[in-house]
Amino acid sequence: MTCKFCNHVNEVYAERCINCGNLLNEKKSSITKAAEIKNISPIDIALKDIKNAWIAGLISIGITITFTLISMSGTDVIGLDASAFIDVFLMIIFTFGIYKKSRTCAILMLALFIFNKILMWQYAGVGSGLPLALVFLWYYSKGVIGTFQYHNHINKFGSSNNNA
Ligand SMILES: [Zn+2]
Repeated sequence: MTCKFCNHVNEVYAERCINCGNLLNEKKSSITKAAEIKNISPIDIALKDIKNAWIAGLISIGITITFTLISMSGTDVIGLDASAFIDVFLMIIFTFGIYKKSRTCAILMLALFIFNKILMWQYAGVGSGLPLALVFLWYYSKGVIGTFQYHNHINKFGSSNNNA
């Protein structure tokens, strides 16, 4: 395989160029490949996933506040009480964290969502609201991947000079 940096011809299965040491065939993630096919940068996909995740967070906050207020007014909908405002508080922090591209907040948001869903299912029966839950699960999971993808991308650019 010909090195694209120095044009040295290496063995077919060589990972690095024996002349200059650069990687010959950088392993590409599925997201990078998807980005190449769509001709958009992987960072754009990561940013889109992050954006979708914090929008999902805002929607989730809105839904929780609405149902909590309904519950507190006397109509017990899904077992929510004033303690749900702790969840709202956490969700606001995590959603803002995702907006700031925090991996930790993306993971915590996903964990909190799963935790709350388990609690809700104990109260309302397993599987209730499953379609909507899957939608949120999808966007929060993509948010986790997106924040990691974003930081991997930043790290790659940040350390490219040091690795030479
Ligand atoms: Zn080379």
